[in-house]
Formats: sequence, structure tokens, C-alpha cells
Amino acid sequence: MTSTIVGWCGPVLLPAALVLAASVLLAGDSTSPNLEEASSRARESLRKAHGSEAAARIDRGVAQVARFWRPEDGDAAAFRALVEAEFVATGAPLDAVFGRLEYALERMDGYFLSLSRDLRRGLDLDLGPLLPLDERLGAFEPSAHLSEDLFKSKLAFVALLNFPLTTLDERLARGGTWSRREWAEARLAQRFATRIPAEVNAGLTQAYAEGGRYIADYNVFMHHVLTADGRRLFPAGLRLLSHWNLRDEIKARYADPEGLARQRLIAAVMDRIVRQEIPAVAVNNPLVDWTPERGAVTLSAVKDAPAPATARAEARPDREPDERYRRWLGIFQAERATIPYYPDEPTFVDRRFNRGREIPVAEFTGLLESVLASPLGEKVGRLVAQRLGRPLEPFDIWYGGFKPRGKLGEAELDERTRKRYPTAEAYAADIPRLLRDLGFSPERARFLAERIVVEPARGSGHALGAARRDDKAHLRTRVGPQGMDYKGYNIAVHEMGHNVEQVFSMTTIDHTLLQGVPNTAFTEALAFVFQARDLELLGLGAPDPAALHLAVLDEFWGTREIAGVALVDIAAWRWLESHPEATPAQFREAVVGIARDVWNRHFAPLFGVKDVTLLGIYSHMVDSGLYTPDYPLGHLIAFQVVQHFRTLPGPMGAEFERICQLGNLTPDAWMRQAVGAPVSAQPLLDATERALEAMPSGAP
Ligand SMILES: [Zn+2]
Repeated sequence: MTSTIVGWCGPVLLPAALVLAASVLLAGDSTSPNLEEASSRARESLRKAHGSEAAARIDRGVAQVARFWRPEDGDAAAFRALVEAEFVATGAPLDAVFGRLEYALERMDGYFLSLSRDLRRGLDLDLGPLLPLDERLGAFEPSAHLSEDLFKSKLAFVALLNFPLTTLDERLARGGTWSRREWAEARLAQRFATRIPAEVNAGLTQAYAEGGRYIADYNVFMHHVLTADGRRLFPAGLRLLSHWNLRDEIKARYADPEGLARQRLIAAVMDRIVRQEIPAVAVNNPLVDWTPERGAVTLSAVKDAPAPATARAEARPDREPDERYRRWLGIFQAERATIPYYPDEPTFVDRRFNRGREIPVAEFTGLLESVLASPLGEKVGRLVAQRLGRPLEPFDIWYGGFKPRGKLGEAELDERTRKRYPTAEAYAADIPRLLRDLGFSPERARFLAERIVVEPARGSGHALGAARRDDKAHLRTRVGPQGMDYKGYNIAVHEMGHNVEQVFSMTTIDHTLLQGVPNTAFTEALAFVFQARDLELLGLGAPDPAALHLAVLDEFWGTREIAGVALVDIAAWRWLESHPEATPAQFREAVVGIARDVWNRHFAPLFGVKDVTLLGIYSHMVDSGLYTPDYPLGHLIAFQVVQHFRTLPGPMGAEFERICQLGNLTPDAWMRQAVGAPVSAQPLLDATERALEAMPSGAP
């Protein structure tokens, strides 16, 4: 249920209890003889009290409590007293228990989330220099013990006694026919389907916080990155956060006649980051100049930007000593400590897919391979080369020239957005208008705007939803001293899509137990629906049919790229699982090898270059524990959802609201109810074929 809270576009953490809530487990310690006897007696007396028609519910409920009962919860008599007192019959008594638990959990989650958000202010928001204290506050997790406290207080046992645990197989097979209440009951029980000790949870929070901290300040001062012949290709003061800003700078430079040399230099920077050959002193430091090609570092004579507190004026070429892989390994080790509590899913990869995404990993990789193996890849690749007037280079995986905005210079776009949005407040004030232009009624636009707070982010931006109905969603975006540049604006529109989904799926949904969407890919999908219209919202006009075809090609090319990234991420975690004692250096070698392998298999045939490492650059690989697969899944889902909105006769507002209110079903059930079809790459492949045919020169 992480997806219900956060559009995880920037480094942001969830309360561990919420992260771990999305789980189901039907195994546990075998019950002691005493408990077996107490169970049997409790079943008997409950049958006497409730009649044989309740027998199946009684047997299931008592067994579910016994499965998670530990000696410290009490002796056999305490066990029996609890189940006999708390079991309720269906009808009004069960409805009342359901209602109480639903409300109580909403309040607990909601207040913990807002408390956690407040404690992380210094870490997440651009409030000036980062203090060491901010890191401590950010690492402090008030809900770290919530999950265990719910067991200790026996609240979890009341839920387990009265509501059914389900397996992914059951939800996939039967969920399609469930009522809303049945879905809500399934999610209620699922919340208590694991019992992880607080210290293990705290270890997770700590490891993710360390990863996030590392990524949040991983900037490159581009004016200080030199070509082999000593030239500065980038403007003074340009600070790019890895990897988001580096990648977006490559995309933006397709509109720059002098862009090629700059793109090559950024690609070299990325390669050094992945291989950890970047000099440690060149990270987040405008006091030194770095020449990636030679690995040379010199003290810089140019003072163009204030130096962060960590920056050292030292001309040392020593490489960053595998820090990237040490943080990533730290998250693996913290996740590894949870393995005993998931006996059904002994690997993190399976757990992340079966529990978090509710799509089996084999089915998921099949979906990605269907995109990567399509012969359309070579055709679109030839078209890209033709449009560029040169052979493809590796960084052309980020080719941005299919987008209508590729024709407009970044500077011109920056000027427009800076003028319109000098501050975060200016963007906030424009939200009602933006939402009306997107197709929401004036009343809904106002309703939403009142529930979204806009703030300047320290990192690249993120959307933090609420977890109680009376709290607000938070939109965080990077606003520079001169105002919001185009990148910041583009991210803000994306995050606003998350926020709108978060408000509808929390505040106006029928059951808060179903708050959110099936998994993070779906919240990304809904955010992309907004983001795709950012230029239109700037007053640059709605796209024409030709532009729509280009947008399809852009989507295909982008999905292909991020599918490659996801395969690298999955393979890296698989490698860790078979090499749990690996050192950071060994892990670095493995990831570099995996990135090259995936490249050689799926990209080298199109690009004519082998052994490229760029697919390993994504920052969320390092700090988010197998999050990147949500991106390609999000693209595919978004494509289906966007296609769905295109067929609407009227504005999209009301339908967007209906879809958000489906809530946290399985992906399959959600997609069928949202657009009438299961998750599939076929709509994207079909549209790509049509777009190629519609190109002026025909398919190349
Ligand atoms: Zn997002």
C-alpha cells in the first residue's frame, strides 16, 4: 500500500509500518500443543454460541489468530479468552467491528504519516543548507513500532479473527467477482498478514534513509565538467541532480544545435558514476574542475556557485570508493533481515512483485520482453537516426525529438515558466485553473486545490499524499531563485497528477481501507496522464494528429529504455540474492556487467555499440529497493489509460475521479474496471505501428 500514499518520483520515505502493511502471509510458526487444545475448545464454544452456519468463519478466524500468536501475547487461556470474546456474527455486529477498525486504522495511519512528514521537513524541503539534525529527524520514524503495537494491543488479532486472509492466487482468481466490502475486508486482514519485529523495521527505515540521503545531494556542477581539450560546455551555476537532471539535460539538448558534444559529455559523466570512477571530490562540488575523459581533477579558478558545506577544495582524483553500491547493499541487507517473516516468499524479488505489485515477476518480465523483442524497435531506431541525421549514439535511448516540445528551446520554455511561476505559491494559486483546463469542473477543481499544498523540494520533487480524510496532499517541486524552470514545471504537473489521484482515492473513496491504487505503477500512470498535457496547460496548444503520432513513438522509445533499466534492476537483485555476502566492489562489478548484458541483448543491435553501462544510472536503483520496474509498468498502464480517456466524448475530470475511486484492487481487477481490459503492451505496440505508417516518409 505504499502506492496509496506517495508518488515516489523523488527521494522520499514512507513510515515502515505502511510499507510493510501491504502483505499477505498464510504461514507461520507451528502452534504449540497448548494452543492447539485452546483453539479446539474455543471453536467448540463459539459454534455453540453462533451456530453451525458460522463454523467455517470460526475455524478460519481461530486458525488465523493462532498462526500469529506468540508466547509473549499470553498463555493458552488468554488466547481462548480473546477469541471467544472478540468473534462476532455476520450482519450488524460484524459491520460495526469492520467500521470501527476501518476508521481507527485511517486515523492511525493518517496521523503517523502527517507527523512523519513534519519531521522530514528539513530533509525534503529546500529550507537552506541541510543540517546533520535534519538527517536524524528524517531517520526518526514515529510509526516504526505501530505494526507490532497493533499485535501487542491485540487489535491485529481482532481483525485476523473476523476477516479472511487471502493469497495472491485467490485474489487473482476470485477478486473480479468480489464486492467493494469484500475487497476492503481482504485488505484489512492483509494488513496483519506479517508480524515483523520493530528492530527489523527500524533497520529498514535506516537503510532506506541512508540511500535517500546519498541520492538527494548527488549533484554534478556542470560548468566544472571539462572536455578533453579543457572547454566548459555548460553554463555557470548549472547543478544537475543524478540521474534525473542529467538525463533530462540530454533530452533537452536535442533542441540545441551545439547539443551533441554536451550530450556526449553528460553520457561520460553517467558512465563514470555507474562504474564508480567519478572522483569522490567531483560530487556536489563547484570548487574543482573534472575532466571525465582523463579522470583529471584540478582546483577551479571559476567561482560560479556557492559551495555546499561538504565540498572540499582538493585536487584529488581518487575515485568515489563504491559508495553507490555500499548504500544499495545496505538496503539489500536490511531487506534480507526480514526474510524469516515471509516464509512463503523467501526472495525479496518475489515478495516485491507478489505483494507490492501483485503481478508475478515472470508475467512482468514477459510484458517487458514483449516490448523489447518487438521488431518495431529497429524500425523506430532507424527513424530516430534518420531524424537526427547521424548514426545512433548510446545516449539516444533518451532521444527527446519526438516530443512536440523538442522543437522549442529549453531556454524559451524556462522563460515562460519562470515568468508564470516565480514561486511555489504562484504555482499553487494557478492549480484551480490548471485543473479546469485539464477537464475538471470548477467545483471539483476548487475542491482539489483546497487539498493540495505546494512546497519547494530539496530533491527533484515528489508528491506526498495524505492517509486520513481531513489531511492534505503535498506537492513538492524544485523552484530556483529565478523561479520555476521548465523541468520544475513539468515535474510539478506530474506530481499534481499524483496529488489529484491521492485526494480522490483517499478523501472521496467509499472505503479508506481501499485507499490508493493497486501499486505505484498506477499512480505513475495517472500522473503521466497529467504530465502529457503540460505544454497545453502552458498555452502552447493541444497536440494535432501528427503530434499525437510522435507522442506514441516517444512513448514506445521511452518505454523501451525504461524496460531495459527495470531488467537491470531485477537482475541486480537476483544477483544479490545468490551472492548475499558480496562486497560493494563485487556488487559494482556485477551491476556493471548486468547493465552491459541487458544493453548487448536489447539495445546493441539497434545502436551498433556494445558494452554500454548507461542503463545502470537510475538513482532509485540505489535508494528505493526494486522500484524502477514500476516505471515501464506505469508507461504501459498509462498508455492504456490515456487511450481510454481519448475515447471519452467529454472532459476527463469525472472519469478520472471514477477511476481513482476504484482504489487498491489487484492490477488486473483495477484495469478491467477502469478501461475494460487487462494490463497489456499490445495497445502501445499497435499504436506504434500505426504511428510509423503515418510518418511522412512512411516506415523507414
Ligand atoms: Zn511520479
